Amino acid sequence: MSSSAIQISAPPSGPRPIEPSSVPDLTLDIVRCSRCQQSLSLASHSTASGVVQFGMNSYYCHRCASKVGFLR
Ligand SMILES: [Zn+2]
Repeated sequence: MSSSAIQISAPPSGPRPIEPSSVPDLTLDIVRCSRCQQSLSLASHSTASGVVQFGMNSYYCHRCASKVGFLR
């Protein structure tokens, strides 16, 4: 029988293209609530819409801010 069966198969894991859509947006306009990790937008409705800043890079959404007693 012919035993010349050396099969070279490509590895299943090749280099994958980086999808820019899967990268979380860390722009200046998007922050994260420090309590519930909800993404908050600073772009529009800067105040009174749900983003409360309590530190240099610390933000609360309106709900969490009121829960922790930050807002009254
Ligand atoms: Zn929150």
